[in-house]
Amino acid sequence: MKQVISVRDLEEMLRNGKSLGSVPEDALLTPSARDFIRDYDGSRPTNFVVAGAVKAAAAPAKVTAKSSKAELEAFFNSPKIHELKLQICDIGRRLWQRAYVDGNGGNIAIRVAEDVALCTPTLVSKGFMKPEDMCLVDLEGNQLAGTKKRTSEILMHLQIMKRQSRAVATVHCHPPYSTAFAVAGVEPPTCMIPEFEVFASVATAPYRTPGTPEMGKLVADLVDKHNTILMANHGVVSWSHNDVEDAYFKMEILEAYCRTVLVASQLGRPVKTMTAPQLQDLLKIKQSLGIPDPRFGLKECELCDNDGWRPGVTCAVPNNSNGNGAPAAAPDPEAEALVRVITDQILSQRKA
Ligand SMILES: [Zn+2]
Repeated sequence: MKQVISVRDLEEMLRNGKSLGSVPEDALLTPSARDFIRDYDGSRPTNFVVAGAVKAAAAPAKVTAKSSKAELEAFFNSPKIHELKLQICDIGRRLWQRAYVDGNGGNIAIRVAEDVALCTPTLVSKGFMKPEDMCLVDLEGNQLAGTKKRTSEILMHLQIMKRQSRAVATVHCHPPYSTAFAVAGVEPPTCMIPEFEVFASVATAPYRTPGTPEMGKLVADLVDKHNTILMANHGVVSWSHNDVEDAYFKMEILEAYCRTVLVASQLGRPVKTMTAPQLQDLLKIKQSLGIPDPRFGLKECELCDNDGWRPGVTCAVPNNSNGNGAPAAAPDPEAEALVRVITDQILSQRKA
């Protein structure tokens, strides 16, 4: 049987003075072990991981922003934090590959202690980060460790973590379809695709200069009941109570949804929605997964209210719905004109 090699095995090998070249050729590598080998190149000091592992012996299991400089450094260089740095690099690569970030845009943070977070640096493409680029900050944004300067947008991530005690990871990026909704000031409609209803709870925050405390506050005001915030004329930020990959999944789900809805709206037929009882079933699943949603406990007639998408369609589903669902109201001319404007803008951007 083929040997399965994890990051822990690789770190063990390095601790014992073996080189990574001694990994059996036919061994099966876990995805993070593959990343570890790729990132462990000759340009790095050869004792990097060994030093990290040795320091780990003295690294405190728990730190706070008030821990000593030496303790914070040991923690920052521990294998546990190294694994999270690799996860951030992996998510950054996926954001870039999916064109959710542009230039040096986007940022990622993971809460690693009560008042300490690991985050991405400023002025680096999220597609090409290395573990040693990462920064450690306190919840006020003061840098505690790391040689690169932390992202200027970290304040927004930290305000989310401060306000939402369950937030363990945050991701911010500029996915084009979702951002188009944020630019047009259109809330994504609801009751169309199950994944979106179960995993994302979207709200829109007004525009403020990115990176300012004011922007962070406007986002933080929404994170009690929403896990994915569209920022007007800017992009999206999400948080997860599970891990950083889960926060990233919100982006994939929202972006696929906005894209699908936009395409569906161009097919010449009124888009169909699920019924309120059908949505109610999805909300039960959502609640059992511990995902927030402002619609928990609402009356059925309020559940599929797509007022923002098709103005005038408030409580389109009658209160006495028998489960067969009410027919979707005819498309509103004002909303159709809005869809045309968004479509034209996207098409002209593609031609440019
Ligand atoms: Zn941004």
